[in-house]
Amino acid sequence: VTTFKDRQVALFGLGGSGLATAQALVAGGARVTAWDDNPDSVAKAAAAGIGTGDLHQADWTAFSAFVLSPGVPLTHPKPHWTVDLAHAAGVEIIGDVELFVRERRAHAPDCPFIAITGTNGKSTTTALIAHILRSSGRDTQLGGNIGTAVMTLDPPASGRFYVVECSSYQIDLAPTINPSAGILLNLTPDHLDRHGSMEHYAAIKERLIAGSDTAIVGVDDVYTKAIADRAAQAGQRVIRIARHRALGQGFFVDGTRVMRAEDGLAAAVADLDGIATLRGNHNAQNAAAAIGACLSVGVSESDILAGLSSFPGLKHRMQPVGRKDRVIFVNDSKATNADAAAPALSSYERIYWIAGGLPKEGGITTLAPFFPKIAKAYLIGEAAPAFAATLGEAVPYEISGTLERAVAHAAADAARDDAAQSAVMLSPACASFDQYKNFEVRGDAFVSHVAAIDGVTMLI
Ligand code: ADP
Repeated sequence: VTTFKDRQVALFGLGGSGLATAQALVAGGARVTAWDDNPDSVAKAAAAGIGTGDLHQADWTAFSAFVLSPGVPLTHPKPHWTVDLAHAAGVEIIGDVELFVRERRAHAPDCPFIAITGTNGKSTTTALIAHILRSSGRDTQLGGNIGTAVMTLDPPASGRFYVVECSSYQIDLAPTINPSAGILLNLTPDHLDRHGSMEHYAAIKERLIAGSDTAIVGVDDVYTKAIADRAAQAGQRVIRIARHRALGQGFFVDGTRVMRAEDGLAAAVADLDGIATLRGNHNAQNAAAAIGACLSVGVSESDILAGLSSFPGLKHRMQPVGRKDRVIFVNDSKATNADAAAPALSSYERIYWIAGGLPKEGGITTLAPFFPKIAKAYLIGEAAPAFAATLGEAVPYEISGTLERAVAHAAADAARDDAAQSAVMLSPACASFDQYKNFEVRGDAFVSHVAAIDGVTMLI
């Protein structure tokens, strides 16, 4: 990035995206002073040719900007010490997304830039949009909070499409963010430890919408509905998305169909029935947002439909991984608490449910409405006794202990089921750390146990 050529920039936070950002700044001719509380990260940056220096000792008045990692507290629970020093010296504080935004504005202001935020569904929507663009033959760069640091993407160029997932922390550090299409999916209390209050959290998300050429907003929550109304009042082009009710204008979900309404008249634009990776009402919302965004940047309806039906899905999120006769095997290892397991449980009708691990507060009591759909539960890890107590008489269960045994027993039981379709599903409602390094390793283990089942056809 050349925005800070020949100027001095302070940078704090040398984890994955911080290091990539420092390298991009150095490559663009900025004079970087990078620092981290972890001496190993500092040493690694120095070895990569980045100027390092203790920002406690630095002359902050010399810096043109301070680039902060999104993981470092800007406001809550209290500002990081570097933030206090930057404020005292009047130095602007920005993040890597802001650097990208400025680079795009300087070099290729017309290249389509779709930014996605919200409390839930960000990664799915981001991946889906990128998949639709790629499968329609467009040069597509996918990054941000989803995993690839924006500074490692190819630089902005005419005809290149950017699909960037933005956490609220990244938006907080991107004061001039101005996407071609900005998506705000939903807003429910989350990360309030880092943002203080719901109002503050909503205000940060609203900044993305306020800066968007086309604003695409899920209007099922009170906060997002108000944000959409304000954007419309300000004269912005607004596309409203609803999951739970019909709209007279915008996109809404009707069963498995995504409807488009104009002046009170609605017609289906897509039917997700049969697209296993987009099951469930929540995914219909994600698809509706993706459709709105892709249309707004000029993708044809037929390219969009083709992309929807070939979407491979995201790993570990309600991912159909295998099939044997009438049984589908679903990896939802990312569901590390009861709330996260709810969409998967609501999306299938007859479930052989593998749950457990390291329990979270509250357990699975909030999942009781789904208990009638559970043919049997297979409990693993430390949470097994507590989950068994909650299931009680309502749901048949066994304490399987290990995931391997749970998969084998669930597969055998489901094979004897007469139902037209049943699902053997890992949606653990627990963290994985009692038995696995993380939820990804747990999901991969599930997949390998499924692959070992006699006669199974793998879908991945
Ligand atoms: P994020 O990137 O925002 O964490 P993901 O796309 O990774 O979201 O989805 C994480 C989980 O959130 C999914 O497994 C599903 O349980 C739930 N989810 C996905 N989309 C939505 C949505 N639109 N509304 C509510 N919950 C959703």
